[in-house]
This record gives sequence, C-alpha cells and structure tokens, in this order.
Amino acid sequence: MTVASAWRTLFCHEGHALPNQAADLELAAVTKTYGETVAVNHVSLKIPAGTYCCLLGPSGCGKSSTLRMIAGHEFISDGDVMIGNTIVNDLPPAKRGTAMMFQSYALFPHLSVRDNVAFSLKMAGTGKAARAQRADALLDLVDMTKYADRLPSQLSGGQQQRVALARALITNPTVLLLDEPLSALDPFLRIRMRAELKRYQREFGISFIHVTHSQEEAMALADMVVVMNDGRIEQIGSPREVFNTPKTTFVARFIGRHNVVPEDGRTFAIRADRLKLSPPAAADGAAATVTEVEYQGMSVHVALRRSDGTELLATLSESDFDRAPVQVGDSVSVGWQAADRHELAA
Ligand code: ADP
Repeated sequence: MTVASAWRTLFCHEGHALPNQAADLELAAVTKTYGETVAVNHVSLKIPAGTYCCLLGPSGCGKSSTLRMIAGHEFISDGDVMIGNTIVNDLPPAKRGTAMMFQSYALFPHLSVRDNVAFSLKMAGTGKAARAQRADALLDLVDMTKYADRLPSQLSGGQQQRVALARALITNPTVLLLDEPLSALDPFLRIRMRAELKRYQREFGISFIHVTHSQEEAMALADMVVVMNDGRIEQIGSPREVFNTPKTTFVARFIGRHNVVPEDGRTFAIRADRLKLSPPAAADGAAATVTEVEYQGMSVHVALRRSDGTELLATLSESDFDRAPVQVGDSVSVGWQAADRHELAA
C-alpha cells in the first residue's frame, strides 16, 4: 500500500471526512512588528498546493515569525494569510488546517510514542479506541510501530523526528509547517531524514513549509525556495533558478559558491566552478595570487586574490587540479567566459 492510499484509508473509516484537500497558501503584504523591530516587512507570497517550500535566510531574517503567523502562534501585525479561499488571520491554530513540527520535536517526555501521536485527537475529544487506532496507523506509515510503547527518551534523534511527523500529520493538515526540523540531527542522519521528509511530502501531496538557514538543505528539498533577508523576500524560485540566476548580491553570497565581481561599473555573479586558471600572463585572464588551497574530495577549492584586490574562489575538479596543480603563493592567471557572468541588481 502506498503512503497516500494508507492515508486515505486512515481518514475515511468511521464516517471520517476525506482528508483535507491540498490548498494554496497565500501571504498578502504580511507584516510582523515586535515593538520597534520590523521582523517581517510586507511579505507577499503564493505557495501552490502540494509544494515543498523552503524559507531560507540567515538568523534573524524573519523566517520563524513568518511561519508562526501562518500557524497562528503569532498575531499578524498587518496583511492577510489565506489558506484556500479563507482568510485565517483570526482563526485559532487548530482551525486553520495547518500543523507544526518543531526543531526540538517538543515530544512529551512522560507520554509513550503512541500517546504522543494521539495527543491532538485526545484534545479534540476523539474516543480512546479510535485515537489509538489512528495513532497506530500513522506509526505504521512512518515505520515506528514497534516503538509505540516506548518513551521519547528511548528513541534516537531520527526516530523522534518520525514520531513528531506522525504527531503533526494525525490532524490531517492541509499545510505542514516545519521549523528547522533537521537541525538537532547529526550530519549523516540529517541527509537521511531530509530524504524521508521529501518522500512524505510527495506522497501526502500537501504543502510543506520548511524553515532553514542551510542553503544545501533548501536546494535538496524545495520545489520553491524563498530567500529572505531583513524581513523581506530577496528572491523566489526553484533551486536551479536561485542558484543559476541569483538576483541580488545578497542571494549570490548567501547561496554561496559564487563570486561577486564588480566590473565595468556593474556587479556580476560568476559561479566558482566556471573560473579557469592558467599559467601567469595568459592572454585571456587577470593576474592573481593563490591564497588558499582546500582539498574537498571530488573537487579542490582555490582561493585567489586578483591584482586589483578582488577575492575570488575557484572550484576545480580533482582531475583539472591534478593536471596543473597550484599552491599558496603561486602567481596564476584567472578568467572566465563572458557568457558565464550573470548580472546582479544594484
Ligand atoms: P529567523 O527565524 O529568520 O531567525 P525571527 O523571525 O525569529 O527570524 O526573528 C526576526 C526578527 O524579529 C529578529 O530581529 C528577532 O530578534 C525579532 N524577534 C523575533 N521574535 C521576537 C519576539 N518575540 N520579541 C521581539 N523580537 C522578536
């Protein structure tokens, strides 16, 4: 049985309504102020139903405030949040069709895994047998059946995440909100659980809105990346669009692996893997000195300082590097194809 068909079975017995239909989510000029601080500044955004959306940006840029306003955990200072055709500004969290999964998973330490998952049904007054049955069905979906009677402290980080996911999904949400859901995990587990999140989102067909400061995580997961800076949206696009055509200097620097180069009175981004190194005084490049060489396995990062002072990063494949190795202090020529430059907004 696929997750999606199990999901339908789960929510259709005992006269239960069909699962919530996936719905579009829209923010219209949404603003959040805390006293003098403008945390979110007129953010407008439309997330089509069934989208994996990552809100990406540095700490303090307004990601969590945005998520909390969608969830109903924070008042909206101005603007509207719409789910489907309903303005949800004044609805309590449980009436919005959203569910939230927190960074620390916020599992109740004294409740068993099954009771954690069933918790919101208990609050809603669902009978004991019915809620245990649905909790067990969800635990089956996230492959945690055999841990149903354990306490959260008896689970690994990845297992806790699956329980938190089951607990959030049991309310049958239209939109699942995830606040830095992978940050408590070690790097190996993070990559594995990231793939699981993506799989569940695809199979349930609802929107996931996932807050992260990791560009790598956003690139790996998102259909739609929303890059935020200082309470505003800098750019919205697919991971490829954002990576290949960053709109602003901020996005180019934040996404990383780009050089930001001022030339001809304008500013360009050029991907680090598009830089070519040649012997000094080559006709098609500028003089530069190697300031750092970092071996990365499949590639080698070479940091350079051009004679005009511009710092550059070149990422070479291991084999290209091996054909013409350089070391710190070497003089080289660095260049690129004009077509590989991408102009940034002022
Ligand atoms: P992010 O999730 O991107 O780290 P936040 O939404 O948490 O950003 O915060 C955005 C801004 O709002 C920051 O300047 C932060 O200090 C401020 N802020 C967040 N929550 C509160 C609060 N409860 N009271 C006052 N300021 C807050």
